[in-house]
Amino acid sequence: MLIEECEKKLQNKFKELEEISFFNQKKVLDAFKECRVSTNHFFGSSGYGYDDVGRDTLRKVYSKVFKTDDSIVSPLITCGSHAISIVLYGLLRPGDTLLSISGDLYDTLKETLFGDGNGSLEDFGISYRQVEMNESEFDCNAIISTILKLKPKVIFIQRSRGYSSRKALSCQAMGEIFSKIREVYKEGFIVVDNCYGEFVEKTEPTEVGADVVVGSLIKNPGGGLAPTGGYIAGKQDAIDLIAKRFTSPSLGLEVGSFEMGYRLFYQGLFLAPHVVKETIKGAYLVGKLMEEKGYKVIPSSEEKAFDIIKSIVFNTEEELVKFVQNIQKISPVDSFVLPLPWDMPGYNDKVIMAAGTFVSGASIELSCDSPIKKPYIAYFQGGLTYEHIKILAEELEKLY
Ligand SMILES: *Cc1c(COP(=O)(O)O)cnc(C)c1O
Repeated sequence: MLIEECEKKLQNKFKELEEISFFNQKKVLDAFKECRVSTNHFFGSSGYGYDDVGRDTLRKVYSKVFKTDDSIVSPLITCGSHAISIVLYGLLRPGDTLLSISGDLYDTLKETLFGDGNGSLEDFGISYRQVEMNESEFDCNAIISTILKLKPKVIFIQRSRGYSSRKALSCQAMGEIFSKIREVYKEGFIVVDNCYGEFVEKTEPTEVGADVVVGSLIKNPGGGLAPTGGYIAGKQDAIDLIAKRFTSPSLGLEVGSFEMGYRLFYQGLFLAPHVVKETIKGAYLVGKLMEEKGYKVIPSSEEKAFDIIKSIVFNTEEELVKFVQNIQKISPVDSFVLPLPWDMPGYNDKVIMAAGTFVSGASIELSCDSPIKKPYIAYFQGGLTYEHIKILAEELEKLY
């Protein structure tokens, strides 16, 4: 009953999301057509993978979608953190500076930046600085003065909010700061961690001045089908450097095979605009329902989404745990497993996670993870179909 009312109130929001996914569906379809994608591109290769047309055509399709000179798209990239590391090691040299202008980087990158004796960037004499965000806005003056002082080789932005309390960044906000930066500083590479942001808007960061975007294929652009992998798309000089790090300086993108074949990567990309829309629609439904029940939800149902994460602020640990357990309970895989808070390596607080996913750990599928600490925030994302997320909403209606 309440759910139907929520759906009614969200009609305008849903329309807006449908318009975005229609636009992005066309963009992806056009890329497939222009690259003349054909069944023979789905077959894999083995060994060195010389002249692997499936691999190389997939790269061309990604380059068209992200409007870049070139790209690397590969199942040999193990995850998003790996993809980002390849970018950083590819572009930075000893003595260079990496500057984040959107505050903290994602947790899993800390060891890449600062690890002691583990081959981190710091070990190689690369320094890291960051400019904090002002609430959820870029601190323009601080960014410009820091850039002029440090002359960074890489200027880094995280589009999604990750587990921070700031909001995700719109392409408009990124475009504005990128052009201000480029007015005074023409060197270096602007790199955007695009995880969770692909197809959320009609534009991508590379259309508003980013030199490189990077992300995971078990999130948005894999459409729920890609079994693993990552992508990096950008300007030719950047991709050339990154490719030499990805394989080796002497090989670049001439090698790399995947005998299983590439159909799921193509088909997943084709489905991605639709899946992202289903995910966000579902997140708004759950968000609206929980708002009606008196909980604070970020972003609120009045606000625009700039990534696929929705967070709900609970009053107690018990309420939070119940929410996460219910996501597991309505999952198609491992529905019978009861998640409990546990001490996870790399985290200071206990963490509880739900991920009853087909592709292990894929967060484009309905999933949730939350540190057990005040305020009790559940970060949930994904869901391959709106209907699946609506089933979660039905459970929540009864429980809260
Ligand atoms: C998921 C994510 C990463 C890291 O990706 P993994 O695939 O988990 O290694 C980095 N940045 C952001 C914003 C992410 O959402």
